[in-house]
Amino acid sequence: STSKIVSKSVIVTGAGQGIGKAIALRLARDGFDICVNDLEANSTRANSVVEEIQSLGRKAILAYADVSKLPQVEAMVKASVDRLGPLDVIVANAGISKAHLGIDVQTSDLQRLFEVNFYGVLYSDQVAARQFIKQGSGGKIINAASVVGFRPFPMLPIYGATKAAVRSLTQSLAMELAKDKVTVNAYAPGAIDTPIWDKGDEEMRAINGLPKGQNFKDTVNAIALGRIGVPEDVAKLVSFLASADSDYVTGQTMLVDGGMAFS
Ligand code: NAD
Repeated sequence: STSKIVSKSVIVTGAGQGIGKAIALRLARDGFDICVNDLEANSTRANSVVEEIQSLGRKAILAYADVSKLPQVEAMVKASVDRLGPLDVIVANAGISKAHLGIDVQTSDLQRLFEVNFYGVLYSDQVAARQFIKQGSGGKIINAASVVGFRPFPMLPIYGATKAAVRSLTQSLAMELAKDKVTVNAYAPGAIDTPIWDKGDEEMRAINGLPKGQNFKDTVNAIALGRIGVPEDVAKLVSFLASADSDYVTGQTMLVDGGMAFS
């Protein structure tokens, strides 16, 4: 037998595309049944992730929820437990980005960034933790942070603040939930090739006027390992954090950034 777990269940938020999709597929290969969450607006992509997991021979269900709304998060966790059984792991992956200058930030952007990236992670963690405690089973909480929560990057002042807040929350919840045998960790990706990246690149070019491709080149130059990451690079770390191999790890936010934090 391997150290990877079988017949356990995990909820992955924002799993319709990008890093969340890669995490869902990787954890399915590790033997987990998967509750795929995304916004209903992303239903076509989310449905195809569910089908892909089922074709790997695992159970998969779809649970639409806007993670920034507590009642929707509660319904998501209930749907997962009703249909997949006791919950073992939650990956609070859903997040949004927005590039702007700190002095120009609009209140609506400020609110939405914190609602999705921070409240959304907090609500996911809270509802999953209550379920773990009710089950008496322990559990694993895995949150999406970012390299931008470790060091500043131009034009991402509020996004970075939400991710630094996730890092702090991860530490606090790890202390609070240790007695319940719940570990709380986070992954902090660097520049990963997903749709969020294309959107950010466009927003930044609108502000700094750089030609298309220049921002990408500058970013690659800032990565010690010399390449933009792929979602699977992040999924490998999350596979470890979701497995028994990480049982003695808690409160950590782990960079998976090709060395970008040091550039
Ligand atoms: P992405 O935009 O490709 O995917 C995010 C997914 O989350 C989408 O499917 C989207 O529909 C969903 N989502 C958005 N708001 C939601 C909400 N309120 N409720 C439920 N689902 C919601 O982004 P990604 O690159 O895959 O990013 C995943 C996570 O990794 C995010 O938290 C992001 O901040 C973080 N991250 C990404 C990078 C990167 O370079 N791509 C770097 C650091 C951190």
